[in-house]
Amino acid sequence: MIKTIGILGAGQLARMLAQAGQSMGLEFVFLDPATDACAAEFGEHICADWDDEAALEKLGRRSDVVTFDFENVPESSASLIESLCPVFPPPRALYKSQDRLREKSMMQELGIPVASFYPVNSRPDLIAAVEKIGLPCVLKTRRFGYDGKGQAVLRFQEDMERAWQVLGDSDLVCEAFVPFDLECSIIAARGRDGQTVYWPLTRNLHRDGILAVSRVPAFEQQLQGRAENLIQRLLDHLDYTGVMALELFLKDDELLANEFAPRVHNSGHWSIDGADFSQFDNHLRAICGLPLGDTGNSLHTLMFNLLGEMPDCSNQQSPDQHPIAGLHWHDYHKTARAGRKIGHVTVTADNEAELRARAAQLAGKLGVAAELNLKAVL
Ligand code: AMP
Repeated sequence: MIKTIGILGAGQLARMLAQAGQSMGLEFVFLDPATDACAAEFGEHICADWDDEAALEKLGRRSDVVTFDFENVPESSASLIESLCPVFPPPRALYKSQDRLREKSMMQELGIPVASFYPVNSRPDLIAAVEKIGLPCVLKTRRFGYDGKGQAVLRFQEDMERAWQVLGDSDLVCEAFVPFDLECSIIAARGRDGQTVYWPLTRNLHRDGILAVSRVPAFEQQLQGRAENLIQRLLDHLDYTGVMALELFLKDDELLANEFAPRVHNSGHWSIDGADFSQFDNHLRAICGLPLGDTGNSLHTLMFNLLGEMPDCSNQQSPDQHPIAGLHWHDYHKTARAGRKIGHVTVTADNEAELRARAAQLAGKLGVAAELNLKAVL
């Protein structure tokens, strides 16, 4: 009987996992070096570095099963814990996702379409890669890149040296620029027994490399099936347990994979309010060996990420007191800081027209109506 969940990381993803776990009677213990980690109020917080062996052992001994809320936890730390208690998703998934070269090579081997790519470890490598791929292309660090950080788009020959000056100290990968029609993501949960459920393919809008808006439902069943097939290959190959997200580009009706995340994902936050079982519910169910819940979604749902500080209009009012109906505010209780993900708000509606009206009203209140091309997702 699983009672205590250990989580490597105590950020907002761990916080939402713990919130989902409360109603399941689960308890939580977190390991995170941040003194102000926002999940800490939901359990015991072991404040230590990711590679602190005594702290990792403590987490392993306190927990019935351990998971993680961000993918840059050293694989060796996850493996050390694995000698004390089960760790899901498998540390091998961390190993693959932490390095874009390994990740893309694996996808290619599994027949998952990706933009062409080459490793770059020197200036001559870069020149050779650009010659093969052509311009424009994207130069990315193999490790520790997120939300568009650690990457540069090369459009002209002279961009090469400029990008090399900024990124050249790291191991890199150069990939073709995809002039995509849109971005989307498929999120799935796979149980210990291999049972897999999928949420509806989500339409995503980014601003400055950071997810700004997610929307469901947004696609035909046929495309949904193709996306499910792609993520299933990764799940089966890694003998995966837990929630995984696969970020995709859609170009001329073709799906191309960008990257996968071996964890719950920002583009699935809408599922807390818009699906019967959220990604957080099913991640916990999967790692606890419980049957997975229904991911069905009868609501039209759109999520806005909230960056920097919680807007005045969130005002801690309950949705039914708020002048716009169907709003669900999520405040991560993090210290405000420019560009930081500090919360999200989900808009739900019974039909598309209602969603469009509510989302436009909310975008106006949030002051993002002018910057966001909401028409693209609605
Ligand atoms: P990533 O850090 O790989 O998730 O990239 C962040 C964002 O940069 C993506 O969501 C895309 O909007 C954009 N991007 C990344 N790679 C490419 C690419 N090869 N072609 C076009 N846009 C890209």
